Amino acid sequence: MGRINRFVCPSCNASWRIALGHGIGHAVLEDVLQLFPAEIRRNILCDTTDGQISSFEFNYRPAICQQCKKMVPVPVIYFPMSGKTYSSSCPDCNGSLTLQPEEAELICPRCGNSALSSEEIGLWD
Ligand SMILES: [Zn+2]
Ligand SMILES: [Zn+2]
Repeated sequence: MGRINRFVCPSCNASWRIALGHGIGHAVLEDVLQLFPAEIRRNILCDTTDGQISSFEFNYRPAICQQCKKMVPVPVIYFPMSGKTYSSSCPDCNGSLTLQPEEAELICPRCGNSALSSEEIGLWD
C-alpha cells in the first residue's frame, strides 16, 4: 500500500499532494513497465532478458522538476540482481528529473528558499 504525502513550503506556502510508494497494481513487471516511456522500457527489457525479471522493487518517489517548478511523483524501478535503477521523466514536460535520496531535504521548486516539510495525509492502493 502506498502513502499520500503533503509537501509544504514554509516560505511561499506552495503545497503538493504526492502519492508515494506502490499499490496493488504494481506487483507484476508488465504492468509496472507501462508507467515508463518506451525508451526506458526498452532499456529495462534489455537488462532483464536473462530470466531474472521476477525480482524488482517499484515505488513512486518524490522528485522536483526544475522546468515545471513543481513536485511530481516519479516512477522508479530497482533490480536487486543487477543493482540497476530506472526512473521516468517528468510526466508534464518530459524533462529529466533528479532523484533525491530518501532522507534528503527537498528545496521548494517554486521559491527556492526553504526545505519542504512533509506529512503523511493518507493511504492509497
Ligand atoms: Zn516538468
Ligand atoms: Zn517556496
